[in-house]
Amino acid sequence: MSEAISIPEIYGSRVFSDSVMCEKLPKKIYKELKRSIETGTELSPEIAEVVANAMKDWAIEKGATHYTHWFQPMTGITAEKHDAFISPVENDKVIMEFSGKELIKGEPDASSFPSGGLRGTFEARGYSVWDCTSPAFLKEDAGGLTLCIPTAFCSYTGEALDKKTPLLRSMEAINIQALRILRLFGDTETKKVTTSVGAEQEYFLVDKNMYDKRKDLIFAGRTLFGAMPPKGQQLDDHYFGAIRERVSEYMKDLDIELWKLGISAKTEHNEAAPAQHELAPIYDDTNIATDHNQLVMEYMKKLAPRHGLECLLHEKPFAGVNGSGKHNNWSLATDTGKNIFSPGKEPHKNKLFLLFLLAVIKAVDENAVILRLGASNAGNDHRLGAAEAPPAIISIFLGEQLEDILNQIELGNLTSSKSETSMTIGVSTIPSIKKDVTDRNRTSPFAFTGNKFEFRMVPSSDSIACPNYILNTIVAEALMQFADELEKADNFDEALDKLMQRTVKEHKRIIFNGNGYSDEWVKEAERRGLPNCKSMVDSVESMVEPRTVEMFKRHGVLTEVECAARAEISYENYINRVLIEARTMVDMVAKQIKPTVINYAKSVADSVVSLNAAGADAEVEKELLKNITDNITEMDKAYKKLRAEIDKSSEIEGIKEKAFFVKDHIFTTMSELRKPADELEMLVSEECWPFPTYGDLLFYS
Ligand code: ADP
Ligand code: MG
Repeated sequence: MSEAISIPEIYGSRVFSDSVMCEKLPKKIYKELKRSIETGTELSPEIAEVVANAMKDWAIEKGATHYTHWFQPMTGITAEKHDAFISPVENDKVIMEFSGKELIKGEPDASSFPSGGLRGTFEARGYSVWDCTSPAFLKEDAGGLTLCIPTAFCSYTGEALDKKTPLLRSMEAINIQALRILRLFGDTETKKVTTSVGAEQEYFLVDKNMYDKRKDLIFAGRTLFGAMPPKGQQLDDHYFGAIRERVSEYMKDLDIELWKLGISAKTEHNEAAPAQHELAPIYDDTNIATDHNQLVMEYMKKLAPRHGLECLLHEKPFAGVNGSGKHNNWSLATDTGKNIFSPGKEPHKNKLFLLFLLAVIKAVDENAVILRLGASNAGNDHRLGAAEAPPAIISIFLGEQLEDILNQIELGNLTSSKSETSMTIGVSTIPSIKKDVTDRNRTSPFAFTGNKFEFRMVPSSDSIACPNYILNTIVAEALMQFADELEKADNFDEALDKLMQRTVKEHKRIIFNGNGYSDEWVKEAERRGLPNCKSMVDSVESMVEPRTVEMFKRHGVLTEVECAARAEISYENYINRVLIEARTMVDMVAKQIKPTVINYAKSVADSVVSLNAAGADAEVEKELLKNITDNITEMDKAYKKLRAEIDKSSEIEGIKEKAFFVKDHIFTTMSELRKPADELEMLVSEECWPFPTYGDLLFYS
């Protein structure tokens, strides 16, 4: 029996939270800090000094010895450099010290992080700057507790080198534009509009011993070989099914660690694929949700080995089995406690809601490619390009009720809302229930789900900062255009109706309520002129188009050089990821698959000889041998081709050219190499196969 724990007691116990600050800081200082957090005003050095001291005392009291500026470079994971609190004093003694200066600014060497050419290696200086809007926290590892201070990371010349900075900038941008619209509707109370996000995280768990035997999982995070097991996910018996004992213990452990960090892990269940699971926290302000999601991923990986497991965050760990994503639930809330995307019972009367809804529709339609890029990495190409969870074509699902309202707007006759109905199940003891006005649509990449949008393209292994700063910026742009037009109008109501009607006409092509996985949709989308970027490489250029650059500049989210740097980093990441995979395949074929198969072929050949000598015909053995050698030949051809292409890629100068070469050649040859290797797995005896199979990985106990 495990002992009962008091969740309210541990919840947030490792966070320098609002209530801790209120308790530990002098009233005046606390008020100043709050003002700074809420209104974005700069904090004076004197106040930072007091906060730093209180933070240090709190951390030391809890057992921390070190602190770190915690930041999110363009690698997609978080970075930290630990410093001890100690400061030397006389007589070879030390005291525990942490100054306001150290709190506000750190100076990690920037040269080892991707910068996309933003600085030469000779200008390695980079700064991490305290983001007081996200609370500091204590992280535990084998070395003890460390005080982590969330920071933004920039170069010596002030350019953002991280994912956090543009996110914070975009939250300010959307606030400014949303407030303009609210004022037009007579709202004088709201002082701030914030974007909220709840990120549902999908992941796989596999047995650690099996994992350790697979180089592809170790180096690339996904399997690069593997024949399908006799059972896949056909029976759908895993989804929401009973959770394995070991996994359930892991989930409990994970929940507790996350709760200590004030992360509201709430829902956990099995997902569609065998060995796949999901964790959803309760939504929060986007910057905090982003920090929290980084920690969720970090703890998922960190805690798994304690339970003999390994956590795979890759978007497509197994070919032929559903991949993982992150559903980014996104909405806009006012500081008066209102969700702007709550339609109310009669949405047709809620024009404020409808205008914001139309802003999202316009934004997504006009910026589909850039939004797709925001949700891209090399791993996600396996999901978005294939016939599974969201297609690479961006469309919006609104559901019946809102689609009907949009039709009415288009016709210039907005008069009614379809309402919810009751349904009974046909068993008299089961009460009748209210049916939602719309069904769920799991195939849409961007779905309106009652009072929020669910952006489902987001890759499972990456930070959610990028899709969110893009989403915030494009919606800010649409709201800005709406506000510009409406503020000038003599008659607001008339101008509003006209604007709404025009927007529906211009952008209704992005709305699609049908099956997003079907081939018909691909054709239909093409007819509508919607972009379909099968690979992320095709979407990178959108980041540096003058239109995009102007938009990011206008809202103060990214400068021109920052846009260029981000495009370059996207190419770079893609190239690196695919090349690591290709090299791993070469290694596994040369050192594991080929020797195993050759040995096995020899034993088959031997038995042919002895069977013949004994007067038996050995037809089956001969056929098997031929099958094996045919596949070895094919494998060897692809192997040589892949090696040559890897060599060739290092000679290509331009980063864009190289990315396309990698996609068009290396990536394709990898599939050519995999095919015969997977065939061979089915021809060779199970005992001698050099690493665990899909069956071993997916159906462990
Ligand atoms: P579903 O199961 O339909 O996807 P849930 O209610 O489980 O929806 O919510 C999924 C995620 O969406 C959770 O993280 C939840 O906190 C988040 N969420 C709910 N409401 C909002 C909102 N207004 N804004 C952003 N996220 C939200
Ligand atoms: Mg969901």
